[in-house]
Amino acid sequence: MAAAQALSEIGYLLRQNPDEKFRARAFSDAAWAIALERPDLASLHRSGGLKTLPGVGEGIARVLTELVETGHSRYLDRLRQETGQPARDDESDFDLRSYQGDLHSHTRWSDGRATMLEMAQGAQARGYSYLGVTDHSPRIKVVNGLGAERLLAQSQEMAAAQKQLDSLTLLQGIEVDILEDGALDLPDAVLEILDVVIASPHVKLRQEPEAMTQRMLRAVSHPHVDVIGHPTGRRPGSREGASYDLELVFKEAARNRVALEIDCDPARMDLSPEMARLALECGCNFVLSSDAHAPEEFAYVPMAAWMARRAGIPAERILNFKTLDELTISLR
Ligand SMILES: [Zn+2]
Ligand SMILES: [Zn+2]
Repeated sequence: MAAAQALSEIGYLLRQNPDEKFRARAFSDAAWAIALERPDLASLHRSGGLKTLPGVGEGIARVLTELVETGHSRYLDRLRQETGQPARDDESDFDLRSYQGDLHSHTRWSDGRATMLEMAQGAQARGYSYLGVTDHSPRIKVVNGLGAERLLAQSQEMAAAQKQLDSLTLLQGIEVDILEDGALDLPDAVLEILDVVIASPHVKLRQEPEAMTQRMLRAVSHPHVDVIGHPTGRRPGSREGASYDLELVFKEAARNRVALEIDCDPARMDLSPEMARLALECGCNFVLSSDAHAPEEFAYVPMAAWMARRAGIPAERILNFKTLDELTISLR
């Protein structure tokens, strides 16, 4: 996993430079493949087989060789320096094996590529004890977002899927859009009955910082919101995120016990480690999410967990380390 995380970080740092888009993608894809397959890198290295890994060419194989031999990558060190990353001495070191479940995932009910049962079985196979199914809200028409009626139908499918699972509990949630004025894209009466409410900014991210601050403050003050999903909406290397008064919003989130998400999708990686550290200092809790649209994307969490460690976030501030019972209490 250390190798997957190193490749993931290289992908992330390369993304800061739009000219490196394709190389960034290659590193992220290789990190993902390793996080998913968990190959024995040491024996592959001995047999000269590193390049048989999916997506691993000459350059990535060289980085992997050094990682296997020394546990280090000079290429990564150089990128950190070039991109002005802060010193690394403040990391936390939680054990990802205690990760209990993912709270952010999509199914074919909106823009996911797998059925709810397939997603649930994938999460169960990873040893999770719960999975939050959080499809999109109606505002985003292109992804077939769910209103009250379809949520009701979804809950029936969920009850049927639940019967086919042994050790995993499905939680019904929503990834509800934060509208331009900070209101949410579903009525309170609907949000109230869901197990998990993730409120996310998806559109109109280029609002003036002042208006954006008000919009986010309103979202974190909403009584039914549990989590702010990918809080800036950025996509490193292709889309700048929303800019607003992070400190003000993070403090309000902490006050209302709304968790902030670290979205491990390599295209997002939002919050960044730097912003996450600020949120930590503001007293926030976190969720570490895959935002998976297919079961294999659950592997985004182990490949990108370095972001939370880099931000110095301890396990007790991350909701995914809570048991289902503890979690249910935190989600009210
Ligand atoms: Zn989203
Ligand atoms: Zn999502």
